Amino acid sequence: MDCGEGAQGRFVKFGLGLNREMLVLITHLHGDHVNGLLGLLQTMGMSQRIRTLTIVAPKELFDWLKMTMEVLHIGLTFEVGFVPVRSGVVFRGKDFKVRATRARHSIDSWAYVFEELPRPGVFDTKKALSLGIPEGKKWSSLQHGRGVVVNGVRIRPNQVLGPPRKGRSIGYSGDTRPTRRLARFFSGVDLLVFESTYGSKDAEMAVERKHSTALEAATLAEEAGVHRLVLTHFSARYRRPDPLVREARKVFPETVAARDGLVIEIPALQ
Ligand SMILES: [Zn+2]
Ligand SMILES: [Zn+2]
Repeated sequence: MDCGEGAQGRFVKFGLGLNREMLVLITHLHGDHVNGLLGLLQTMGMSQRIRTLTIVAPKELFDWLKMTMEVLHIGLTFEVGFVPVRSGVVFRGKDFKVRATRARHSIDSWAYVFEELPRPGVFDTKKALSLGIPEGKKWSSLQHGRGVVVNGVRIRPNQVLGPPRKGRSIGYSGDTRPTRRLARFFSGVDLLVFESTYGSKDAEMAVERKHSTALEAATLAEEAGVHRLVLTHFSARYRRPDPLVREARKVFPETVAARDGLVIEIPALQ
């Protein structure tokens, strides 16, 4: 989600792997959100990436990338798939999808939600045995949502599976004012990463420059009923993000500040 300057260095430093299945989601075309992209692509090329890399972004990004790569004679070892961003589902993976909606910034800007697809319910082994289904292949079929026949009787997966389990979700705002549309869009996500450029004393500047304050991010998180909030994109005027986090926690206690290498685990719901 966005690719600021030096992204490829962080990839290497934190051992994220440059040939993994990967999707790049760009919110808008301000330098602090895209300046790392070219370096990341080149580093992937140098490490002999072969998997296709898909980039979802405002379509002008592709003109810029294409032209820059031509001028600099950059050849890549892998395909780059471009998906121009629009409202709705912008990408479907094997077990997840990504949705986008418009944000409100000084230029065209978008927000994303990464969503795991619902997972099948818990398999009830006692029930399976009581129905006379032998352990093995038939159990596995049912666990994967396929019906089986036992002694001439058809058994449907919902006879032995609990209710489907909700997948996990992560929302990402990019640069934006808080809006009602975003509050609806991020409704109930497990983790919301929201920009928090300013503190309350600079609230006017947030309005003027189309950014958000920590308090506004927290208020939106509360409204949207998200589980956890990560603040990011702090203005360089603040030496440390702590006062901003404190302001946010008054409204939304489950708030932390983002930093390089921060790992947050989102437990799978049972
Ligand atoms: Zn911006
Ligand atoms: Zn920015």
